[in-house]
Order: sequence, then structure tokens, then C-alpha cells
Amino acid sequence: MNPDTARIHEEIVRRNPAEPEFHQAVAEVLSSLEPVLARRTDLRELRLLERLCEPERQVMFRVGWTDDHGIPQLNRGYRVGFSSALGPYKGGLRFHPSVTLGTVKFLAFEQIFKNALTGLGLGAGKGGADFDPAGRSDGEVMRFCQAFMTELYRHIGPHTDVPAGDIGVGARELGYLFGQYKRITNRFDAGTLTGKALAIGGSHVRTEATGYGVVYFLDAMLAARGDNLEGKTAVVSGCGNVALYAMAKLHDSGATVFACSDSTGTLHDPAGVRLDVLHELKATQRKVDAYPHLVPGARFVPGIAPWDIPCDIAVPAATQNELDEPAAITLTKNGLRALAEGANMPCTPAAIDVFRDAGIAFAPGKAANAGGVATSALEMQQNSTRDRWGFPTVDQRLAAIMRDIHDTCLATADQYGRPGDYEAGANIAGFLTVADAMITLGV
Ligand code: GLU
Repeated sequence: MNPDTARIHEEIVRRNPAEPEFHQAVAEVLSSLEPVLARRTDLRELRLLERLCEPERQVMFRVGWTDDHGIPQLNRGYRVGFSSALGPYKGGLRFHPSVTLGTVKFLAFEQIFKNALTGLGLGAGKGGADFDPAGRSDGEVMRFCQAFMTELYRHIGPHTDVPAGDIGVGARELGYLFGQYKRITNRFDAGTLTGKALAIGGSHVRTEATGYGVVYFLDAMLAARGDNLEGKTAVVSGCGNVALYAMAKLHDSGATVFACSDSTGTLHDPAGVRLDVLHELKATQRKVDAYPHLVPGARFVPGIAPWDIPCDIAVPAATQNELDEPAAITLTKNGLRALAEGANMPCTPAAIDVFRDAGIAFAPGKAANAGGVATSALEMQQNSTRDRWGFPTVDQRLAAIMRDIHDTCLATADQYGRPGDYEAGANIAGFLTVADAMITLGV
């Protein structure tokens, strides 16, 4: 970092103590914006950047609910609105025991650049709770969602803040959340939440969107290098929606996925991971360790990530900082050609340096996984017009949006002297869009 960006970073660390993920996300953006700042003679960009690193609002609240035994339970809920320069705050809710204000802030910050890249008029926010859905009954999840919304409802709305899902929050939770929102407000404001089930105003492709989008981005990235996915080997981490639908699209594109993982460990199937089996496991709430019992020849290794399995393509789609420098070195030595982040910030800064030095095509999450939030915007469009578009229509739009994001990142990186650096391209293009809107709105 240069002295100007280092000073901003120091100030952020001072103002937001003990939030290492937020500090990390800000540091990454600050370093990639140096070529922008270097071109300016006045301080305007620098000061706007400083302003952009401070959330517009941060809400923290108590969530009291009762478990199936009638015992009162307590969790903490969060919603951070980071930037509304381009539209209503937009971003998911994460229910996971690891969630803190710092986690939510880092995710909301990433969302600024991601949402700007979609070009669909989306501000940036994120929320969640330290609630652990693992092992909770359907009734407990419903009561938790209702209790969470009993406070959150006053802060959101189709033109104010539009939450969606993230880790631990899918169509079921969004249904319970929306039900409570509707009950309290007496309004069927479908555009207040996205990622809803089709029955209550959801969109086709929203479930698949993030995973599909990652692969559309990979496809564009390989095409820019005169290559494609046909016949490639791939390894994916995670086993949630992003991972499952990235695997499905990789298979459709002619690649073979040999491994995926979940909180129990890594599943390696030398014949290619069978998605029907993974869906069956998911439907019966089993983990990937059960897969080898159903598919002979597959092997399960407890407690490890899949990065020592040789592959052309890697898609980390589990969680932040899951892929570190040693894993990046192993992947690179084993012939990795391209990596696209399905999760938010899954690669550590040192891992990204390894990929950059090795000339590997690297797609940062804020570009590669923008398909989820982009399809949320398509859901909002359908909600506004009380329309429902068919699966192929939404899918084609998603593919076009991802190609567009790819091209914007590549062209911007080029323009700012970082050819082929998608991370710089994403951060610079996202920042310029938001900074322009901030200036237009009056600083
Ligand atoms: N949680 C997703 C993300 O990280 C989707 C957010 C949304 O659809 O609003 O981008």
C-alpha cells in the first residue's frame, strides 16, 4: 500500500477494532485502487474512498425465540447498510455461529463492488445472525426467522434495503422471514426480500444463479485465453447451493468434477462426482461422508479441503479464507489453469499472490459470484411488474450479465495498466461506478 491508502487502512483498523475480515477486504480493495488514485491530482477520489469504507448504517439487535422444549434461546442479529449510492441496500443474510459484526461488515463491503458490477441499480448491505441452524427442527428455524424479522422489518423495504439468502438462509428461511414481514406490515411487498420460493414471487434460476454464474464467468475467462471448459478436470469446495450448481454447470460444459467438500471433509470420486447422489444426501440431511456408501470407488477423507487433488479448474465455494498459500502452491504445482471464487473472499491474500505470480486466471468472488445478486435484481424486476419470466429467459439474462461483468473487469484492468488482473479490474470498475454516483448525488 502507498502512504495514502496505508493511512486510510490504519484509520479503519482503529475505528473497527478486532474485525480482521473487514480489514482484509478493505486492504485488498485499497491496494487495487492505487492506479486510480495515482492518476488524480486532487484528493476527491481518496476522500470518497475513505467515505465508502464507513458503513452508512449498522443495526445490531437481540433475537429471542423458544426452542422445541419451550426453553428461551438468545441470538444476536445484524444488518449493515454499506452504500445506497446506486440503489437500495442489497445483500444476503447469513445464519452461522461464526457471524459477528465484523463478518457482516466485510461481506457488505464486498457487496458494494459486486453489486455495482452488475449494473442493475443495487446498493450494498449484508446481515445475519450467530444462529446455528444445524440440528434445529423446522419449527425452531421458523420461530427463529419470525423473531429475527420482528426487529428487522422496520429497517427494510423494496426501496430501502432488500435482504436475500447466504450461508444458512435459503428459500425456506426466506419464506418464513417474508411471512412475518407481511404479517407485521400488512403489505405483500414481494420486492422486500429475494431468493423467495416460486410460490411467493421468487424467480426461476435464483437457486442456481450463483453457481451457474461462476461457470459462465469461468467460460468467458478461458475464452479470453483461447481455451474452454471442454474436457477439463475440476475441484469444488463446499456442498451448498453455489457448489452444487457450479458443479452441475461444469458438467454441462464438458468438464468433470472430481471432488467437493463440506464441514465433515472431502469427497473424491475418480469417476466424476454424481450430483443426483449429492442432491439425495442433501434432501435427507446427510453429509458427504455418506457418499462412498452409495457410490463404490469414491473415497471420503475427513477434515480436509480438496486442494491437493490435481485439477485444471478450482472453485472454492465454501467460505471466507478457506484456501491459503500452501493450498495455492499445491494447486499451482499440480497444473491449475483457472480459479473462480464461488464464495466471498475464499482465497487469502497470500494465495491470490501465488496465483497472480503463476499467471493463473483468477476470478475474484465479487465478480465471479455476482450472478446470485444479479438474479435477485431480476427477481425484483419481476416483482415490480407482477410478471414471471421462464427459466430460459432468466438464464439467458444471467449469462449475458456475467459476460458483461467479465468484459468490464478485463477492459478496466487493461485501461489501468493491470492486464489480465480481474481483481484489480473488478475493484476499479466497481469503485468508479459508485464514486460517480456519490458525486452526482452531491457529496
Ligand atoms: N448472498 C449472495 C451474495 O453474496 C446474494 C445476495 C443477494 O441476492 O442479495 O452475493
